[in-house]
Amino acid sequence: MTHSIGFIGLGNMGGPMAANLVKAGHRVTGYDLAPEALRHAEEVGIRPARSAAEAVREADLVISMLPAGRHVLAAYAELLPAVGPGTLFVDCSTIDVADARAAHELAVDAGHRAVDAPVSGGVVGATAASLTFMVGAEKEHFESARPVLEAMGRKVVHCGAPGAGQAAKICNNMILGISMIAVSEAFVLGESLGLSHQALFDVASTASGQCWALTSNCPVPGPVPASPANREYAAGFAAALMAKDLGLAAGAADAAGLPTELGRRAAQLYADFAAAEGAGLDFSAIITTLRAGGK
Ligand code: NAD
Repeated sequence: MTHSIGFIGLGNMGGPMAANLVKAGHRVTGYDLAPEALRHAEEVGIRPARSAAEAVREADLVISMLPAGRHVLAAYAELLPAVGPGTLFVDCSTIDVADARAAHELAVDAGHRAVDAPVSGGVVGATAASLTFMVGAEKEHFESARPVLEAMGRKVVHCGAPGAGQAAKICNNMILGISMIAVSEAFVLGESLGLSHQALFDVASTASGQCWALTSNCPVPGPVPASPANREYAAGFAAALMAKDLGLAAGAADAAGLPTELGRRAAQLYADFAAAEGAGLDFSAIITTLRAGGK
């Protein structure tokens, strides 16, 4: 089934995601505040609109890929009255769980359907249509969104009720952010003990220290040739985005009254690194601050 899709937010992620929907045969009308993003979208077959409301006027499905919760809530205020009844809203942005639930409620109150569907896989995954989608939705709305998500990704997981997609995203990234620091600290300690990077990798990658931060995104050059450490930490997954996601995890932990001590410490380390010089570098470059003693 092909859809008429309104796509709001055609940046680093949204641009290539919308392009893959065009390739899959959907009719896509897009809007972005940045004229350059809109121009680029037009080149790949997306019909440009002059406003968010215009982009969704003929849509039966609306996708948003925006920076943060406040952008999504502001966009929904404009979009919800502009579409026909029962339109399906799919927010793929990474936002606060509370904002995701608020956006869902706004949509339902306006007579529409809504799911949260944040992604993992970065710009590479968005371009190659190999993203993982983590979806929070009522079952039937998940099933309605699934074919469209499959045109942009390789794996689509129903995580539970509205908000559960965002919850899964920040919990996963909290594991990732902390484990990258654990791996980095181990390499820094190993260096000071005279252990070669390769020796530590050969042991830990086949022993109980094994994890994605070590075996796929190794923070030192050499053992994993494709990891960002081999190209001066060109991202990859930028440290600024990791700081953002860990901030969302800390906010959710505040709301739940949970200490999540390592998650909060990791959030601080990435935020300091991003504010200093590392915002655009891959998050594995955090090892350079740990070598220097951190803060
Ligand atoms: P981006 O800054 O490249 O794109 C966001 C776009 O939204 C920009 O082009 C901006 O002009 C546009 N925008 C902002 N407010 C708008 C509005 N009111 N109406 C229309 N357009 C508006 O960011 P990105 O890297 O594409 O990330 C988008 C979301 O995806 C974020 O929530 C991010 O956390 C998440 N994410 C990013 C990555 C990644 O690797 N870049 C990976 C996973 C998830």
